[in-house]
Amino acid sequence: HTDTMLYLDGVSVAFDGFKAINNLAIIVQPAEMLAIIGPNGAGKTTMMDIITGKTRPDTGQVLFDGRTDLTRLDEAAIANLGIGRKFQKPTVFESHTVWDNLEMALKKPRGIFSTLFYAASDNDVARITEILETVRLISRKDELAANLSHGQKQWLEIGMLLAQDPKLLLVDEPVAGMTDSETEETAKLLRKISQTRSVVVVEHDMSFVRELGSRVVCLAEGSVLAEGSLDQVSANPVVIERYLGR
Ligand code: ADP
Repeated sequence: HTDTMLYLDGVSVAFDGFKAINNLAIIVQPAEMLAIIGPNGAGKTTMMDIITGKTRPDTGQVLFDGRTDLTRLDEAAIANLGIGRKFQKPTVFESHTVWDNLEMALKKPRGIFSTLFYAASDNDVARITEILETVRLISRKDELAANLSHGQKQWLEIGMLLAQDPKLLLVDEPVAGMTDSETEETAKLLRKISQTRSVVVVEHDMSFVRELGSRVVCLAEGSVLAEGSLDQVSANPVVIERYLGR
């Protein structure tokens, strides 16, 4: 598995004797998008917590980029390896402009306050412009983040993660609360990002998963219940019984 971006192998974790993740095996290739679906309590959030180092598994390994076992590292070290996580709710700096949010994200390794003292280099300007074009916010660059729509705030935060140049992006239910057209744009954006980076999306909205067009893994009780295309997974009788048919 030297050429895989992410390889979870035999991962288990129990909380007070309850196995939230049970011998889980997941593979994500470079420049591949994977959608994770499954009922509430399936272990989707716990899986993301294990990848990012928030939760340490009891057993198993989490191999990143073919070499590094993440289970030995803390959250900051894992983030620095190139793993970005987008939580469900947008967290942007509301009282700063769209542009300044991106500039802060770009300089984050040197500390947010460095933006107060260092002007952006030509390189930074080019990079921020490119990211704002990707997330379709270039025309709003001087707007305060507070004045963006909910969907635009989500895109801004995705842009801020891109500024960190992650190899793997973990995204938790990005379209909750979005309009239909924002949802469509988000699918397009994530598809574009996954041309060059690995993306894992946890999602309940099946029409959005269809728009993503990616491989799908359905989790239940901390293990893989089914995987394949959305059509394959959603035709699986066990998936219908345990998840889709309820
Ligand atoms: P999902 O994201 O798929 O809804 P979770 O990963 O949040 O599922 O939860 C999986 C199971 O583990 C649930 O039964 C949940 O109650 C339990 N769980 C998750 N985190 C903790 C924790 N920190 N302490 C105790 N139980 C937890």
